[in-house]
Amino acid sequence: MTISSLAKFIAGVKRMIVENVEIENPETNPANIISVRPAKRDSCRCGICGKKCSRYDKGSGRRRWRAMDIGNCSKVYLESDSPRVWCKEHGAVVQMVPWARHGSKHTRGFEDTAVWMSLHLSRKAVSEYLRVSWDTVGPMVSRVEKETRSGDKRFDGLVKIGIDETSYKKGHKYITVVINHDTNAVVWAAKGFGKEVLESFFKELTPAQRKSIQLVSGDGARWIKDTVANYCPQATFCIDPFHVVSWCEEVLDTVRKQQWKEARKKAAEENKGKGKRQRGRPKGGSAEKTAAQKEAEIMKNSKYPLLMNPDHLSESYQAKLQQILLYDRRLATAYRLKEGLRAIFHLPAEEVRPALEKWRRRAWSCRIPEFVELQRKIKRHMNAIVATVTHQISNARVEAANNKIKLTIRMAYGFRNINNLIALIYLRCGGRVIYLPGRAPVKVT
Ligand SMILES: [Zn+2]
Repeated sequence: MTISSLAKFIAGVKRMIVENVEIENPETNPANIISVRPAKRDSCRCGICGKKCSRYDKGSGRRRWRAMDIGNCSKVYLESDSPRVWCKEHGAVVQMVPWARHGSKHTRGFEDTAVWMSLHLSRKAVSEYLRVSWDTVGPMVSRVEKETRSGDKRFDGLVKIGIDETSYKKGHKYITVVINHDTNAVVWAAKGFGKEVLESFFKELTPAQRKSIQLVSGDGARWIKDTVANYCPQATFCIDPFHVVSWCEEVLDTVRKQQWKEARKKAAEENKGKGKRQRGRPKGGSAEKTAAQKEAEIMKNSKYPLLMNPDHLSESYQAKLQQILLYDRRLATAYRLKEGLRAIFHLPAEEVRPALEKWRRRAWSCRIPEFVELQRKIKRHMNAIVATVTHQISNARVEAANNKIKLTIRMAYGFRNINNLIALIYLRCGGRVIYLPGRAPVKVT
């Protein structure tokens, strides 16, 4: 094997001419520098479109691209001139190089590996293993995503779609995401929310693609309903069940906070009535707690058992829940209303409307103002809720897709550019095919 073939093998690049190989700083910080140039057929091409162009100038001189490490963690760099060419379409552009994507300081192999790793490992693992900062991975994700997008057919044959806005940063920063319910894949995502943002999605579709959409689910926001009615008048509107349940959970949590506040207040008043407490541990009989104090204690940390699905509660939480329901009648009523609403989504379609009406009557007469308000909201969205059960929008699947998006957003913290976050969502949640260098393509699930 010649030095040239060995260098190509190490760098994982075949299409280049190797001019020299040397080891830099062998004692302190060894790095393998492979000096290369593109073959004649690859030189003088526009870095953006790849068309053959005429040479423009020398550019910024020698450049380095990092490749995957070898041996005992020795870094590897490809080094080459970076002349600019004149493209009729793009003007003066740095010439294309076959070993790296335009604008990158890493080889294709390095970027593909980094992106594959970021789809499967934690941020910390990726940064530490590759010795790159996490925000460097962001632009790599965008470049790889752009390549996997070409020729994709994500808008073809859309029948059931879900539209949702998700926050990606504190301070009301949102992205709007469109999911294909049949594949559970994200087909579209963009910064912001509201009518204009969603309109830009529908404008990307052809009239035939818009016509094929039969069902749209969302959280009941007016801007989603109005835009869908405008662009897909044939589509039925549904509400994702977990949105309806989350309205109810919010109300239940408000009641929980009120009750806890009340219980603490009562306990504090009773304490005051007893006069100043003696220093040190209370003696025998005086340690007995009043009813209000007991209630305040039970109400402490009650959020989890009350809001969680009871099937997922541990034994100790089950016991805590029973205690809460026994001690606080108002909270027990609120809890039963929440569970009652959740159960409606498991009923046969024809039973949903009567069950919702019954639920509304219970909520209306429970004397908790927040639930009286909620039953009005349920009335407004009655048709959409009934349609959800009729068309069998699986809550578990929708929620799973939503959680995956939220996890991806958390993963992308540290990316400076929102487009890199969106690219990561497409790669992790869009059913894209990813290539690990030298391996068969892998579909991300
Ligand atoms: Zn060009």
